[in-house]
Amino acid sequence: MRPFSYQRATDPDMAVQALGAATAANNPLTQAAAQPLAGGTTLIDLMKLDVMRPAALVDISPLASGWSAIESKADGLRLGALAKMSDVAAHAEIQRNYPVIANSLNLAASAQLRNMATLGGNVMQRTRCSYFRDVSYENCNKRSPGSGCAAMDGVNRMHAVLGTSDQCIAAYPGDFAQALIALDAMVEITGRSGMRTMPFADLHKAPGKTPDIETTLQPGELISAFSIPGRWPRSLYLKARDRQSYEFALSSAAVALDVQDGTIRDARVALGGVATVPWRAREAEMLLKGQKFDDGLAQRVADAAFADAKGRQHNSFKIALGKRVVARALQQAVTMEVRS
Ligand code: FAD
Ligand code: SF4
Repeated sequence: MRPFSYQRATDPDMAVQALGAATAANNPLTQAAAQPLAGGTTLIDLMKLDVMRPAALVDISPLASGWSAIESKADGLRLGALAKMSDVAAHAEIQRNYPVIANSLNLAASAQLRNMATLGGNVMQRTRCSYFRDVSYENCNKRSPGSGCAAMDGVNRMHAVLGTSDQCIAAYPGDFAQALIALDAMVEITGRSGMRTMPFADLHKAPGKTPDIETTLQPGELISAFSIPGRWPRSLYLKARDRQSYEFALSSAAVALDVQDGTIRDARVALGGVATVPWRAREAEMLLKGQKFDDGLAQRVADAAFADAKGRQHNSFKIALGKRVVARALQQAVTMEVRS
């Protein structure tokens, strides 16, 4: 591990100043000389692997007193970015009115990690592509722009089938982000010029020609909160993986339905484990609106969700698996018991 300086943020202004000052504007944030440290469960790993090499860490955990609140109101939910994954998953109001959020967090990582890790750190985690995480492989456009992509013709079983480019096929690994994107969450961002909000769907960038640029955050900016409009008691997250716990998704689906008198009034479908970014299947979910549910409809929605999928040598199975996950998630959401 390389030497680095460590600074504890005493307030948000100090944090964004310290981060912004050390970050050249034309640098992807992931290569910035100063990085925010939250729970440290991903960042420290990547520093030990020499994938991330910040000269300075700005510890933002002291900001938790202002940035970790879980606030449920009549018009929606607000989650501080420094709230711990385990606290949010265990919150009674979230289990009742946003089960997709509670599921996505409970099915992620391990109990120990969830006790340490924050929501902000979770959405900002980086791909688990093994070529990205092993610096002995030189060809990784995400880590070293222009160097090529070892995964294209390498072992790509875990890689994405949606949103890929000829530069990078790495899958976005997190679970919580699928719940956020399905529920039209907004993300609150604190920077040197104050606070701004934007749709969570605009946070992550598909790889395109610049896989090293992963988000639209600007130098010095921090995620301070997420807000979710409305309530979605009929929602869930289904995750298929190689083992039943402590494993990243091969394929997952976040679904949320508003069903009245047997008719689907509104529907949300997001996919995980199969795409380069948190993936909203908007065309597929349109098929559900105004319909009565049956297995044939579930299958058509699943087919539509993967209509543009492109498999490679080892990961084509994700297309068939992903369709089954979507169909099953919808079937479970339609029949789930909703607590009022
Ligand atoms: P940190 O490690 O502190 O930070 C992560 C990144 O986010 C860093 O680059 C940091 O600079 C940046 N960052 C942190 N907070 C902010 C902020 N507020 N604003 C802007 N940038 C910020 N996750 C899943 O979803 N599903 C899984 O199945 C899963 N399995 C895992 C298994 C293992 C073995 C491990 C080690 C991790 C796993 N994870 C999984 C990832 C885990 O959930 C993340 O490590 C964790 O959520 C990161 O949160 P953190 O607070 O520790 O972030
Ligand atoms: Fe790097 Fe992306 Fe290729 Fe993985 S898939 S080796 S992260 S460029």
